[in-house]
Amino acid sequence: MSGQRDSASEIREMFVKEPLANWNGAIMPLSEVRVSVLDRAFLFGDAIYEVIRIYNGKPFLFQEHVSRLEKSIEKMGLAANGQSIAARIQETISASDVESGIVYVQVTRGVAPRSHRYPDSLPKPNELIYVSEFNDPYLELRETGAAVIIQDDLRWKRCDLKSVNLLANCMAAQAAHEAGCADALFVNTAGELVEGSRTSLFGVRNGTILTAPLGKNILPGITRKLLMDLAEKSGVELREETLHSERLSEIDELFLTGTTTEILPITAVDDQPIGSGEVGPVVQRLLVAYKNRIAEFSAL
Ligand code: PLP
Repeated sequence: MSGQRDSASEIREMFVKEPLANWNGAIMPLSEVRVSVLDRAFLFGDAIYEVIRIYNGKPFLFQEHVSRLEKSIEKMGLAANGQSIAARIQETISASDVESGIVYVQVTRGVAPRSHRYPDSLPKPNELIYVSEFNDPYLELRETGAAVIIQDDLRWKRCDLKSVNLLANCMAAQAAHEAGCADALFVNTAGELVEGSRTSLFGVRNGTILTAPLGKNILPGITRKLLMDLAEKSGVELREETLHSERLSEIDELFLTGTTTEILPITAVDDQPIGSGEVGPVVQRLLVAYKNRIAEFSAL
């Protein structure tokens, strides 16, 4: 299980080559990027981000990611332009020789004297893009199924914003790692299982896929939406209904989705088996549909 592996070697395996960065339009190795300590992202976490998967040298679900990036820019009132960032992303991918990787994008409010409220005249945003190789850490767990733990949802009330304020997510992910688990599921005070620390959550009950409806308590996952499309095309019924921690015994299958996670079957929660404790037939079908979708995209 991933938690039992040495994390430094895990990180080395995942990012094998020096990532190529685009820093405010200038392409350079990531290690050469310099940023002021007065950047509001450093001081306040005043920034948004995106992660996009690259298959066969091309960004997957690119328009969907750019459109979420534009929404984040608008909702946070940043002085950035999503379309110009989109052009830079394409340029940086082309300049790299990455075939299977990720693009990380971060847009900060910019550099200003430290003060909680936003500066009267908005500073120039700092725009970071980097392209990195990525080796899928879940190849094996996708076959065998993974274990997760449940953690209290300590996050703020705007989890729909893809902001870099991820401390509660990091704490939950670390607790999962220490427990030898792949991820942590956030439970709110009502006992609802809303999503994972970096993933969307799905269950299957009597053949119907269930997932929490969009709201301010979850991120509108790009892979969540793709999963919904794949379920429809595969003829599997899907309903937006939040899973409950006390009703997990009614759930036959459980899985997570995310840009780098893709689809990850979950066979145990807090050491308790889900359904048969094996990777179930619905998630197996979706794993095939997902693989086919990537193969079609890669061949384009
Ligand atoms: N939920 C949270 C809290 C996340 O951080 C992420 C990804 O970073 C997801 C869900 C999955 O979103 P996506 O499918 O867009 O990667």
